[in-house]
Amino acid sequence: MPIAVVRPQAGDQVAKIVEIAARFKTPLYPISTGRNWGYGAATPVQRGCTVVDLSDLRAIRFVDEQLGLIELEPGVTQGMLHEFLDTRGLDWMVPVHGGGPDCSLLGNALERGYGLTPTTDHFAALTSLEAVLADGSTYQSPFRKLGLDLIAAAHRWQIGPYVEGLFSQGNFGIVTRATFELQRRPEHVEAFFLRLRDDSQLCAIVESLRTVLADLGGSIAGVNLMNDRRVLSMSRPYPVDQVEPGDIISESLCHQMTASAGISRWTVAGVIHCPTDMRRTVRKLLWRRLPDSVSRPIHMNRRRVRVARAITKRLPIGSRSVLQQIDSIESLLDLADGIPRRVALPLAYWLRGEQPESSAELNPARDGCGLLWYSPLVPMKQEFVEPYVQMVESTCASFGIEPLFTLTTLSDRLFDSTVPILYRPEEPGAIERAHACYAALVAEGIKLGCVPYRMSTRTFAEGETPGTMSEATNLTKQLKDATDPNGLIAPGRYFL
Ligand SMILES: Cc1cc2nc3c(=O)[nH]c(=O)nc-3n(C[C@H](O)[C@H](O)[C@H](O)COP(=O)(O)OP(=O)(O)OC[C@H]3O[C@@H](n4cnc5c(N)ncnc54)[C@H](O)[C@@H]3O)c2cc1C
Repeated sequence: MPIAVVRPQAGDQVAKIVEIAARFKTPLYPISTGRNWGYGAATPVQRGCTVVDLSDLRAIRFVDEQLGLIELEPGVTQGMLHEFLDTRGLDWMVPVHGGGPDCSLLGNALERGYGLTPTTDHFAALTSLEAVLADGSTYQSPFRKLGLDLIAAAHRWQIGPYVEGLFSQGNFGIVTRATFELQRRPEHVEAFFLRLRDDSQLCAIVESLRTVLADLGGSIAGVNLMNDRRVLSMSRPYPVDQVEPGDIISESLCHQMTASAGISRWTVAGVIHCPTDMRRTVRKLLWRRLPDSVSRPIHMNRRRVRVARAITKRLPIGSRSVLQQIDSIESLLDLADGIPRRVALPLAYWLRGEQPESSAELNPARDGCGLLWYSPLVPMKQEFVEPYVQMVESTCASFGIEPLFTLTTLSDRLFDSTVPILYRPEEPGAIERAHACYAALVAEGIKLGCVPYRMSTRTFAEGETPGTMSEATNLTKQLKDATDPNGLIAPGRYFL
């Protein structure tokens, strides 16, 4: 529990807050919008912190509009930036992700979040920053300090040792503003889908994806591989009446449900961004690089979605679920186009049996949803993916947690897998079960060579990380002790 929440109304109030906190030795926990859902939301690691809620700092300023270099304060959300760009008729994309329009850009980038637009890695898009340090002084990226705003915003490495990284998954200061490189919206955006019958086809795809991304990485990014239960969670309500508390959907029921919804063992969904006259070439090159054992991908763009919708509306029966699928494809195209959507959020509510409308203002933390993300990095090699999949499926099942999977390509070498551990907090023992499942996944994953890229605040509070992990950060600990000897800023976060 925090002891207080303060909401500065201007950036220069942050230094004052730090100064008062230092005087009374009260630790601070900064949040941008505090929507770090599944990773602890706005909750500090340690008790007794004052939460510094920066969501009222919402200034947006172009450093250079032609170059797509923009400066944002912490409270700027994906939705606000979208509106800002849209009302000016600009073609720059918001680096969106599944958390939806109410999540900040800065907090997400500092946590190294990622998304579907060509700017997959959000911290990589952050180029310079300004932060209040524990002694109350202000750090500015070197070129920024020299007054060279444009170069500072265009050249992430600045000059000399790269310091900005200390503020990402590090609590070296409270970041009050940062600049980002935006990506121009490509002329053509389309999604492609593949259905895989079994795990052997999954392995074949994993091997081919390395070549697909190495050769076509400029046009194809963010390919998602999802298992049957994960796709089910997006397309059908949870069968609450047919599953005992503490248990998962049985294999036979899962089979029945996926068969009736036309869901295969694995679904591959990816996005193509390219100039319009390259689209056919990219499709052809993609198809050539996929293994012979899989069927041809289905490609959907805005024109095809319109046609599919018009045809489906004329169908007499069974058109509702098809229309739902068309809606999902349209939302995916929006996300790929840099338009924030809430389409992923109903996942957090799945176990309730009734899916909320994704158009409603959803907030899984406020609504008491039980969700923990286990999000390990998995090398893009079948000898890693195959045992990893088996490990997650058996570990989740042994704790009565639905094994829901996504493997998302971060590069042509690495996946980030996201496994949402869903539970009902009101069910006796469910919270402990979910956390025990998380700890087991982390421990078993490390044995296979797969380790989380990001972790929840509770993980650090409860010591759910293997001991050796914290030893890997000895140098940063020394730096933190030197700059924040009293542990004033976000103590305990990421081992610091
Ligand atoms: C269904 C669902 C789907 C999701 N999909 C995605 C996804 O696709 N990609 C993704 O990345 N995330 C995803 N999320 C997770 C999460 O909701 C987002 O990452 C969200 O953007 C994080 O919350 P925030 O932006 O409010 O950051 P905050 O909660 O404000 O901050 C995140 C962290 O950064 C630190 N921090 C924040 N601001 C500052 C600052 N100014 N100075 C110093 N430190 C700071 C905080 O202490 C905290 O540790 C998803 C969540 C759900 C429920």
